[in-house]
Amino acid sequence: MGILGVNTPETFGGLVEIKTETAVGRAFVDQCLHIHSQRGLDSTMASMAKYWFSDLQNYVATRCVQMHGGWDYKWEYPIARAFVDARVQPIYGGCNEIMKELIARTINRNS
Ligand SMILES: Cc1cc2nc3c(=O)[nH]c(=O)nc-3n(C[C@H](O)[C@H](O)[C@H](O)COP(=O)(O)OP(=O)(O)OC[C@H]3O[C@@H](n4cnc5c(N)ncnc54)[C@H](O)[C@@H]3O)c2cc1C
Repeated sequence: MGILGVNTPETFGGLVEIKTETAVGRAFVDQCLHIHSQRGLDSTMASMAKYWFSDLQNYVATRCVQMHGGWDYKWEYPIARAFVDARVQPIYGGCNEIMKELIARTINRNS
């Protein structure tokens, strides 16, 4: 049940939600990479990508630890490493609260 997660409601992190949100996140990051490769990515969009995707990374890693159970809390398993690696992402590179401040400054009546 934990591994498959098929009967876990979406509101509790069922696989349907995780799969959908990672697909949406991937589409957004791919778009940012494409714009960046043409030197067109502005700091607002970069901030949106950094904060939103690192929050999603944390959410997915947390749900994966929960889904796999106690074994994947141990260092020997890749999920534990992914969980720890994800945890720092909203903090460094400019914490996500600062990313939101940068985005907020660009919001005006025409946004
Ligand atoms: C492994 C690692 C590698 C790093 N490498 C580099 C590097 O190569 N180059 C470099 O320049 N820096 C690097 N840093 C520093 C990194 O950029 C800072 O950690 C980051 O900017 C956050 O600053 P801080 O750690 O002082 O946290 P603080 O600014 O003290 O923030 C602590 C917490 O307070 C909250 N917070 C902060 N500001 C606000 C706000 N305005 N509103 C609401 N809440 C807020 C956030 O939740 C935040 O996580 C690295 C950090 C780590 C952990």
